[in-house]
Amino acid sequence: MIPSNHPAAAQNRTEGLLADGTRVVHAGLPEPVVGEPFLPGPVFAAPYHLDPVTGPGENGYGRTEHPTRRALESAIGQLEGAPTLVFSTGMAAITGLLLSVLRAGDTVALPADGYFTVRAFAEGTLRDLGVSSITVPTAGPYPDFEGVRLVLLETPANPGLDVCDVKALAAAAHAAGALVAVDNTTPTPLGQNPLALGADVVVASGTKALTGHSDVLLGYVATGDEALFAKVETWRKQTGAVPGGFDCWLAHRSMATLDLRLARQTENAAAIAAMLAGRTDVTAVRWPGLAGDPSYAVAKQQMRRIPGVVCFDLGSAERVGRFLTAAALVFAATSFGGVHTTADRRAQWGDDTSAGFVRLSCGIEDTADLLADLSAALDQA
Ligand SMILES: *Cc1c(COP(=O)(O)O)cnc(C)c1O
Repeated sequence: MIPSNHPAAAQNRTEGLLADGTRVVHAGLPEPVVGEPFLPGPVFAAPYHLDPVTGPGENGYGRTEHPTRRALESAIGQLEGAPTLVFSTGMAAITGLLLSVLRAGDTVALPADGYFTVRAFAEGTLRDLGVSSITVPTAGPYPDFEGVRLVLLETPANPGLDVCDVKALAAAAHAAGALVAVDNTTPTPLGQNPLALGADVVVASGTKALTGHSDVLLGYVATGDEALFAKVETWRKQTGAVPGGFDCWLAHRSMATLDLRLARQTENAAAIAAMLAGRTDVTAVRWPGLAGDPSYAVAKQQMRRIPGVVCFDLGSAERVGRFLTAAALVFAATSFGGVHTTADRRAQWGDDTSAGFVRLSCGIEDTADLLADLSAALDQA
């Protein structure tokens, strides 16, 4: 929860907005109707009944119109601050944006240390289509973006947790005539508002903390740029990577607890990062909320909350294996942002992290229990 003396809370009050906990509970809900549920259940429909004479009304066919999906889009849109299109996965959303915007001869700038699959997509499909890519480290140094059509930022970057100054980079990219997208997966819209910081468009995976229960895949694109929105909407309509009704409903239901989940995840991450930083047998501890972390200063000024993801190095794959075997409360799993604490040795997926690099995603378990379990597992490893 944002403390009431936090600048973001003051800003909410002065703008007449409600605080996070209230916003997520009410986001995207329909006006109350006597006898109806608060959040209507999922609609399962491919085609809908049409008027036999006048044809389609609000709903004609599920790939293009879906009431459960519209409610979820309204919820996410309220949090990001712009009209939103949801996709079946984060990668469907990101590739949907890239392929809607980029044409042969264009150049896209991607984070060198961001989500691995985006770079792989650029080096494969995009390159085959005649689109060049350059990679830029999230912590800099940055080029002048001359000749770049789209700059994709990811902050904090997954998995290394470097942070970039969105406002400054958006200004630099706009000066060069580029469009600016921010992958807001790790912070969620309660942790960071890229559109308010000057980005043109937000992309994200809703699979992670936004929905947070490790049971749904989701992605979205949010933008206040009407022409861009229309392009991405046409892309989605014609390529069809939409989430189903049940997944949309699960996601919407899960979002009501986002404020509470993030608050506990951040609390757990703060305690665990401090514990890890105090050990001599753990190196390269990264958490943007840790004073002294290379990301601390920019994160503190730019972010509304620090996510519950902590990274560190145990030196070797074997030691990570012993740690994960010994830890009773940490599931070995990829992905992050869920209610269960998980840890992933990223190198096993072939990305370019070191063999002992661990991305720990703090869940919402009791802080003292987690600290005790992790400390004991590290002692054993
Ligand atoms: C997971 C992730 C994605 C991809 O999302 P999916 O829902 O798995 O397709 C994109 N960007 C970031 C930063 C991610 O962590």
